[in-house]
Amino acid sequence: MLQSELLKTTNGFINGRWCGADSNKTMPVVNPATGDTIAIVPVMGRTETELAIESAAAALATPSTIDERRRWLSQLADLITEHREELGRIITHEHGKPWKEAQGEADYAASFFRYYSTVVDHLKPRQLADRPRGHQWTVYSRPAGVVALVTPWNFPLAMLAKKFSAALAADCSSVVKPSSKTPLSMVALFSLMEQIELPPGKANLILGPAGEISDVLCAHPAVRVISFTGSTPVGKKLMAAAAPHLKRLSLELGGNAPFIVFDDADLEQAVDHAMSNKFRGSGQTCVCANRLYVQSGIADAFATRLAERATALRVGDGMQEGTEMGPLIDQNAFNKVRSHVDDAINQGATRIAGSETQIASRNAGWFHPPTVLRGVTANMLCVRDETFGPVAPIIEFASEQEVIDAANATEYGLAAYVFTADDQRAERVISRLQFGHVGHNTGSGPTAEAPFGGMKQSGFGREGGLEGLHDFIETQTVPRP
Ligand code: NAP
Repeated sequence: MLQSELLKTTNGFINGRWCGADSNKTMPVVNPATGDTIAIVPVMGRTETELAIESAAAALATPSTIDERRRWLSQLADLITEHREELGRIITHEHGKPWKEAQGEADYAASFFRYYSTVVDHLKPRQLADRPRGHQWTVYSRPAGVVALVTPWNFPLAMLAKKFSAALAADCSSVVKPSSKTPLSMVALFSLMEQIELPPGKANLILGPAGEISDVLCAHPAVRVISFTGSTPVGKKLMAAAAPHLKRLSLELGGNAPFIVFDDADLEQAVDHAMSNKFRGSGQTCVCANRLYVQSGIADAFATRLAERATALRVGDGMQEGTEMGPLIDQNAFNKVRSHVDDAINQGATRIAGSETQIASRNAGWFHPPTVLRGVTANMLCVRDETFGPVAPIIEFASEQEVIDAANATEYGLAAYVFTADDQRAERVISRLQFGHVGHNTGSGPTAEAPFGGMKQSGFGREGGLEGLHDFIETQTVPRP
């Protein structure tokens, strides 16, 4: 079992108190690098979710001041930073990513609390400068109410930090439901949160698989917003379940990111960014390159260099010194990645990197070698679907128009990347790409200070930046004579 000063309990948290499940049902949390059970957590359901929503609703009766919220947010940023190594260790044990990378996730989580602590003043009432209709007009940003925050396993801490920091800034009360694969990072965050003395009910943690929990979150009249990060099929189910109750939704869903490299790009820069963008989190990030479109003149050089670099990556247990890439989250993830590689090879692609001998750990983990494929075509699964694994399929293209059409030929619209030395071309291409986040000569993902979110079936709503507050506020306008 994983011992940690931040995991003195592995229970949920409702109305200011740690609690288990009424049913006494439990489930294991498994380390994907070893297959070991590292903790046992409660399986909560209807009763606990209703209790959490009711305590969250009761907490709304006592609004907090902007100063209190600023203090809570900055205290949380400090606490996460102070405990970054331990939080990172917990993330690595339940997710598998290398410890250094996991500490980076803790820093990223802290940056959202820090950022919203610095902009919470934007939520102060605003008075119009003139007096339309002979009245004085005040615009208030009221908390939207009880918000349900449902998150995936691929960034067990950061995906919640994005939502929770904005919800807290807006003075909402939260019911948090992390992925049942990675609940421990959230338990650790709530144990840190005890130190900032939030009012009871302001933040509640429900543990267990979706099912009953999400049924209650979607149907309970007190829940006003459902902020969800996860797959597109689950996002659609939530939208359908929430529709009869007209709940507001923010959906951060799946991606199928094109990574476009033109002939005039800086080769080393493009390869460097492809490596960090593609293989971070073992390729299990929503923003990672899913399809690499490389112009014919640079394709051989790019493919050779990328294959060399991918082959040199050290794959193993994230807690082992020197590990650069960890395992996949579970057997289903492994099977999906393997099926995408097999499908590409059966349809004529060539594997130029991706040998099993590259894997340092020889234990029960779900390790997949960093794989590079050439001769990939549009009909292959790895181009059509989100692979969510360490596979880099290279597709050659000839013209600008051809690559824009190919990149947009997907139902997804989350992230894209364009590498070219020609700024005018970059401007032209970016303006025509239907993606919410487009890196120019960078594979960088989002930052706390700027809005991030998807187009098309990658969802709607934005996280980060001032826009990230919008999902959690109700605007109320008051004219006075
Ligand atoms: P997922 O299967 O959709 O699960 C996400 C969350 O939804 C988990 O807490 C899960 O709980 C819950 N859930 C599962 N089935 C549900 C249902 N029928 N109703 C309500 N909730 C349900 O996604 P995942 O596998 O954890 O995460 C990977 C996906 O997230 C990828 O598609 C990735 O692109 C996407 N993602 C998007 C962003 C973004 O910013 N756009 C960021 C990160 C990840 P349980 O599993 O515990 O039941």
